[in-house]
Amino acid sequence: MVEHKIAVITSGGDAPGMNAALRAVVRSALARHAQVVGFYSGYEGLIDDDYVDMAVHSVSGIINRGGTILRTARSPLFLTAEGRKKAYSVLKKHQCTGIVIIGGDGSFRGAHDLAREYKIPVVGVPASIDNDVAGTDACIGFDTAVNTAIMGIDKIRETAESHERIFIVEVMGRRRGFIALEAALAGGAEGLLVPEVKPDLEKLAHRINAGHSRGKTSSIVVVSEGAGSADMAAHPEHDELPRPPQVSISYHVAEVINRITGLEVRVCVLGHLQRGGPPTAFDRSLASQLGAAAVDLILADAHDVMVGRQSGKIVVSPLADAWEKCQALDCHMLELVERLGR
Ligand code: ADP
Repeated sequence: MVEHKIAVITSGGDAPGMNAALRAVVRSALARHAQVVGFYSGYEGLIDDDYVDMAVHSVSGIINRGGTILRTARSPLFLTAEGRKKAYSVLKKHQCTGIVIIGGDGSFRGAHDLAREYKIPVVGVPASIDNDVAGTDACIGFDTAVNTAIMGIDKIRETAESHERIFIVEVMGRRRGFIALEAALAGGAEGLLVPEVKPDLEKLAHRINAGHSRGKTSSIVVVSEGAGSADMAAHPEHDELPRPPQVSISYHVAEVINRITGLEVRVCVLGHLQRGGPPTAFDRSLASQLGAAAVDLILADAHDVMVGRQSGKIVVSPLADAWEKCQALDCHMLELVERLGR
């Protein structure tokens, strides 16, 4: 007799490696004689009872695929107690004995609410290209997104050098600059703007100018999409280029650098490229380990927790740590980008 039936969803922003995590959840559970039911489109599909029974073959050939075969969504209804009640009734209908949520900090907040309101094992597996979940050294998908960004930067560098241009490369990260920081360091960028630090565009422009005076033939400035929200107020001299909050800072940065240096500046927004593509070996391996660990936790009746990997070891922490303990950007790394990109 099957004693356990585990529900699984992928939720929130998609991240390469979600499929690998799903595969690990399904196959680990089946290997331990537990059944698995997948719900489509995150909490939305859970509320709507849009489900698929998962067999060994249902996760065949997906470890190398970005995106998520269960699809993902944002669910306004799950933000309400009524929505979560409906979700719980669906879990009960299927006789689920636990649920694994593969997603980011928003999804974990929802999972935490569900866990507080209903007595059912709830375990989170952190997958977010933004890497903004505490309790793990890295989230699934971050490494792939950074590698995609670097690939873009390398290609842009070649065209920038050919034309002696400056390029502003905008990467994802509305609230956190983890992708920008790693991509800037590994891509050898001359400048970096992240949401966490108020930018000094004039200083940046003068530094780039100095580099070109010394004979540099190209410069790359990596910008997080959410960088500089406070910048306009701090630099009223740039008010001739107002921008609504939803418009990226990159074009403004380009204008300021062009005005100060007289050099040609172009903008390249990498955008959703960073979400797709086959996951790196790092992300596949991380996802496989975390997905399997999540099943162990559900079968041990763990409640309101997430799995992570820290210093090479699988660790378990309360779901609330995911957003309450979010780590700061490493200031030394920020300084290193500047020092090496002279
Ligand atoms: P991510 O998991 O990638 O951070 P979101 O922030 O969009 O993605 O969250 C995904 C879903 O999780 C939301 O659409 C919502 O249904 C649920 N969610 C997010 N925040 C909360 C919250 N504070 N309380 C309850 N549910 C939430």
